[in-house]
Amino acid sequence: MKVVENLQKIKDKIAAACKTSSRNPEDITIIGVTKYVTIERTKETIAAGIHNLGENRLEGFIEKYDCLQDANVHWHFIGTLQSRKVKNVIDKVDMLHSLDRLSLAKEINKRATKTIDCFVQVNVSEEESKHGIKADEVLRFIQDVKQYERIRVVGLMTMAPHTEDKQLIRSVFRQLRELKETIEHQHLSHAPCHYLSMGMSNDYEIAIEEGATHIRIGTKLVGK
Ligand SMILES: *Cc1c(COP(=O)(O)O)cnc(C)c1O
Repeated sequence: MKVVENLQKIKDKIAAACKTSSRNPEDITIIGVTKYVTIERTKETIAAGIHNLGENRLEGFIEKYDCLQDANVHWHFIGTLQSRKVKNVIDKVDMLHSLDRLSLAKEINKRATKTIDCFVQVNVSEEESKHGIKADEVLRFIQDVKQYERIRVVGLMTMAPHTEDKQLIRSVFRQLRELKETIEHQHLSHAPCHYLSMGMSNDYEIAIEEGATHIRIGTKLVGK
Protein backbone atom coordinates (compact mmCIF):
# COMPACT_ATOMS: atom_id res chain seq x y z
CA MET A 1 0.00 0.00 0.00
CA LYS A 2 1.11 3.52 -0.69
CA VAL A 3 1.70 5.68 2.36
CA VAL A 4 -0.78 8.28 1.07
CA GLU A 5 -3.51 5.64 0.95
CA ASN A 6 -2.76 4.41 4.45
CA LEU A 7 -2.64 7.98 5.65
CA GLN A 8 -6.06 8.76 4.22
CA LYS A 9 -7.58 5.80 6.08
CA ILE A 10 -5.91 6.86 9.30
CA LYS A 11 -7.11 10.44 8.88
CA ASP A 12 -10.67 9.23 8.37
CA LYS A 13 -10.46 7.22 11.59
CA ILE A 14 -8.92 10.16 13.44
CA ALA A 15 -11.80 12.33 12.25
CA ALA A 16 -14.33 9.78 13.49
CA ALA A 17 -12.62 9.43 16.88
CA CYS A 18 -12.48 13.22 17.19
CA LYS A 19 -16.15 13.46 16.41
CA THR A 20 -17.02 10.90 19.10
CA SER A 21 -15.01 12.83 21.66
CA SER A 22 -15.72 16.41 20.47
CA ARG A 23 -12.12 17.10 19.63
CA ASN A 24 -10.38 18.93 16.80
CA PRO A 25 -8.20 16.78 14.50
CA GLU A 26 -5.79 19.70 14.27
CA ASP A 27 -4.85 19.09 17.90
CA ILE A 28 -3.47 15.67 17.04
CA THR A 29 0.04 15.17 15.70
CA ILE A 30 0.67 12.00 13.75
CA ILE A 31 4.19 10.72 14.29
CA GLY A 32 5.19 8.35 11.51
CA VAL A 33 7.25 5.59 13.09
CA THR A 34 9.77 4.58 10.45
CA LYS A 35 11.78 2.10 12.50
CA TYR A 36 10.75 -0.86 10.33
CA VAL A 37 11.29 0.73 6.93
CA THR A 38 13.91 1.94 4.48
CA ILE A 39 15.03 5.46 3.67
CA GLU A 40 13.03 5.28 0.43
CA ARG A 41 9.84 4.47 2.27
CA THR A 42 10.62 7.21 4.78
CA LYS A 43 10.94 9.70 1.91
CA GLU A 44 7.58 8.52 0.62
CA THR A 45 6.15 9.17 4.09
CA ILE A 46 7.47 12.73 4.11
CA ALA A 47 6.12 13.29 0.59
CA ALA A 48 2.72 12.11 1.82
CA GLY A 49 2.75 15.02 4.25
CA ILE A 50 4.06 13.48 7.47
CA HIS A 51 6.70 15.78 8.92
CA ASN A 52 6.98 14.22 12.35
CA LEU A 53 9.02 11.03 12.34
CA GLY A 54 9.81 8.64 15.17
CA GLU A 55 12.60 6.13 15.65
CA ASN A 56 13.23 3.89 18.63
CA ARG A 57 16.81 2.83 18.06
CA LEU A 58 19.82 5.05 17.92
CA GLU A 59 21.36 3.52 14.82
CA GLY A 60 18.16 3.87 12.80
CA PHE A 61 17.66 7.37 14.05
CA ILE A 62 21.11 8.57 13.07
CA GLU A 63 20.96 6.90 9.68
CA LYS A 64 17.65 8.53 8.82
CA TYR A 65 18.61 11.86 10.32
CA ASP A 66 21.80 12.01 8.27
CA CYS A 67 20.08 11.05 5.02
CA LEU A 68 17.20 13.45 5.48
CA GLN A 69 19.01 16.57 6.63
CA ASP A 70 17.40 18.65 3.91
CA ALA A 71 13.88 17.42 4.54
CA ASN A 72 11.67 19.42 6.82
CA VAL A 73 11.33 16.84 9.60
CA HIS A 74 10.71 17.04 13.33
CA TRP A 75 12.48 14.12 14.95
CA HIS A 76 10.96 12.15 17.80
CA PHE A 77 13.02 9.64 19.72
CA ILE A 78 10.57 7.10 21.12
CA GLY A 79 12.79 4.28 22.39
CA THR A 80 14.85 3.69 25.46
CA LEU A 81 17.89 5.94 25.46
CA GLN A 82 21.05 4.72 27.11
CA SER A 83 22.83 7.44 29.05
CA ARG A 84 26.17 6.83 27.39
CA LYS A 85 24.60 7.45 23.96
CA VAL A 86 23.01 10.77 24.87
CA LYS A 87 25.87 12.93 23.69
CA ASN A 88 25.68 11.57 20.14
CA VAL A 89 22.07 12.43 19.55
CA ILE A 90 20.42 14.69 21.99
CA ASP A 91 20.78 17.92 20.02
CA LYS A 92 19.27 16.24 16.96
CA VAL A 93 16.09 15.24 18.77
CA ASP A 94 13.12 17.61 18.72
CA MET A 95 11.12 15.61 21.23
CA LEU A 96 12.22 12.76 23.48
CA HIS A 97 9.32 10.48 24.41
CA SER A 98 11.17 8.24 26.84
CA LEU A 99 12.47 10.19 29.81
CA ASP A 100 12.27 7.50 32.48
CA ARG A 101 14.98 8.11 35.05
CA LEU A 102 16.84 10.92 36.79
CA SER A 103 20.25 9.73 35.67
CA LEU A 104 19.09 10.20 32.07
CA ALA A 105 17.82 13.70 32.84
CA LYS A 106 21.18 14.52 34.38
CA GLU A 107 23.10 13.30 31.36
CA ILE A 108 20.83 15.17 28.95
CA ASN A 109 21.33 18.32 30.97
CA LYS A 110 25.07 17.91 30.76
CA ARG A 111 25.19 17.26 27.01
CA ALA A 112 22.40 19.30 25.47
CA THR A 113 23.12 22.79 24.19
CA LYS A 114 19.45 23.82 24.09
CA THR A 115 16.27 23.06 25.98
CA ILE A 116 15.06 19.54 25.22
CA ASP A 117 11.33 18.89 25.09
CA CYS A 118 10.65 15.61 26.87
CA PHE A 119 7.74 13.34 27.59
CA VAL A 120 8.02 11.42 30.82
CA GLN A 121 7.38 7.76 30.06
CA VAL A 122 4.92 6.25 32.51
CA ASN A 123 4.42 2.56 33.17
CA VAL A 124 0.72 2.84 33.89
CA SER A 125 -0.03 -0.84 33.54
CA GLU A 126 2.98 -1.78 35.70
CA GLU A 127 3.97 -4.64 33.45
CA GLU A 128 7.41 -5.88 34.44
CA SER A 129 8.62 -5.72 30.86
CA LYS A 130 7.84 -2.06 30.39
CA HIS A 131 10.04 0.95 30.92
CA GLY A 132 8.76 4.02 32.63
CA ILE A 133 8.05 5.60 35.95
CA LYS A 134 5.22 4.20 38.04
CA ALA A 135 2.17 6.45 38.03
CA ASP A 136 2.35 7.26 41.73
CA GLU A 137 5.98 8.34 41.40
CA VAL A 138 5.60 10.66 38.42
CA LEU A 139 4.85 13.89 40.25
CA ARG A 140 7.83 13.45 42.52
CA PHE A 141 10.01 12.61 39.52
CA ILE A 142 8.93 15.73 37.69
CA GLN A 143 9.64 17.85 40.74
CA ASP A 144 13.12 16.31 40.92
CA VAL A 145 13.76 17.08 37.24
CA LYS A 146 13.45 20.81 37.92
CA GLN A 147 17.12 20.96 38.90
CA TYR A 148 18.06 20.13 35.29
CA GLU A 149 17.38 23.39 33.55
CA ARG A 150 17.72 22.12 29.97
CA ILE A 151 14.80 19.74 30.37
CA ARG A 152 11.25 20.82 29.70
CA VAL A 153 8.56 18.26 30.48
CA VAL A 154 6.01 18.82 27.72
CA GLY A 155 3.86 15.81 28.48
CA LEU A 156 3.47 12.18 29.44
CA MET A 157 3.90 9.09 27.30
CA THR A 158 2.76 5.51 27.74
CA MET A 159 2.41 2.24 25.88
CA ALA A 160 -0.78 0.26 26.32
CA PRO A 161 -0.53 -3.34 27.47
CA HIS A 162 -0.52 -6.10 24.84
CA THR A 163 -4.10 -7.23 25.12
CA GLU A 164 -7.31 -7.53 23.17
CA ASP A 165 -9.16 -6.05 26.12
CA LYS A 166 -10.19 -2.63 24.84
CA GLN A 167 -11.56 -1.55 28.19
CA LEU A 168 -8.21 -2.22 29.80
CA ILE A 169 -6.41 -0.23 27.11
CA ARG A 170 -8.88 2.61 27.55
CA SER A 171 -8.42 2.64 31.29
CA VAL A 172 -4.63 2.89 30.89
CA PHE A 173 -4.99 5.88 28.56
CA ARG A 174 -7.51 7.48 30.87
CA GLN A 175 -5.21 7.13 33.85
CA LEU A 176 -2.42 8.80 31.89
CA ARG A 177 -4.70 11.68 31.01
CA GLU A 178 -5.75 12.15 34.63
CA LEU A 179 -2.14 12.15 35.70
CA LYS A 180 -1.30 14.69 33.01
CA GLU A 181 -4.06 16.96 34.26
CA THR A 182 -2.83 16.70 37.83
CA ILE A 183 0.64 17.81 36.75
CA GLU A 184 -0.65 20.49 34.40
CA HIS A 185 -2.61 21.98 37.29
CA GLN A 186 0.58 22.42 39.31
CA HIS A 187 1.68 25.12 36.81
CA LEU A 188 5.32 24.17 37.09
CA SER A 189 7.44 26.42 34.89
CA HIS A 190 9.71 23.56 33.80
CA ALA A 191 6.80 21.16 33.22
CA PRO A 192 3.86 22.65 31.31
CA CYS A 193 2.79 19.07 30.55
CA HIS A 194 0.10 19.85 27.99
CA TYR A 195 0.68 16.80 25.78
CA LEU A 196 -0.16 13.11 25.82
CA SER A 197 1.89 10.75 23.64
CA MET A 198 -0.22 7.59 23.45
CA GLY A 199 -1.76 5.38 20.81
CA MET A 200 -0.10 3.16 18.20
CA SER A 201 -1.40 1.28 15.13
CA ASN A 202 -3.81 -0.89 17.07
CA ASP A 203 -5.14 1.54 19.62
CA TYR A 204 -4.81 5.11 18.36
CA GLU A 205 -8.55 5.67 18.09
CA ILE A 206 -9.08 4.81 21.76
CA ALA A 207 -6.09 7.00 22.62
CA ILE A 208 -7.62 9.96 20.77
CA GLU A 209 -10.93 9.48 22.52
CA GLU A 210 -9.02 9.61 25.80
CA GLY A 211 -7.10 12.78 24.91
CA ALA A 212 -3.93 11.83 22.98
CA THR A 213 -2.18 14.77 21.34
CA HIS A 214 0.65 12.75 19.75
CA ILE A 215 -0.04 9.34 18.23
CA ARG A 216 2.86 7.13 17.15
CA ILE A 217 1.97 5.03 14.14
CA GLY A 218 4.27 2.58 12.40
CA THR A 219 2.73 -0.56 10.95
CA LYS A 220 -0.57 0.86 9.74
CA LEU A 221 1.04 3.92 8.15
CA VAL A 222 4.30 2.76 6.60
CA GLY A 223 4.08 -1.01 7.00
CA LYS A 224 6.56 -3.34 8.59
C1 LIG B 1 7.27 0.74 17.27
C2 LIG B 1 6.68 1.75 18.17
C3 LIG B 1 5.49 2.40 17.82
C4 LIG B 1 4.69 2.09 16.56
O1 LIG B 1 4.14 0.82 16.64
P1 LIG B 1 3.07 0.28 15.58
O2 LIG B 1 2.26 -0.70 16.36
O3 LIG B 1 3.83 -0.32 14.47
O4 LIG B 1 2.24 1.43 15.15
C5 LIG B 1 5.02 3.37 18.70
N1 LIG B 1 5.66 3.67 19.84
C6 LIG B 1 6.81 3.07 20.20
C7 LIG B 1 7.47 3.46 21.49
C8 LIG B 1 7.35 2.08 19.38
O5 LIG B 1 8.49 1.48 19.76
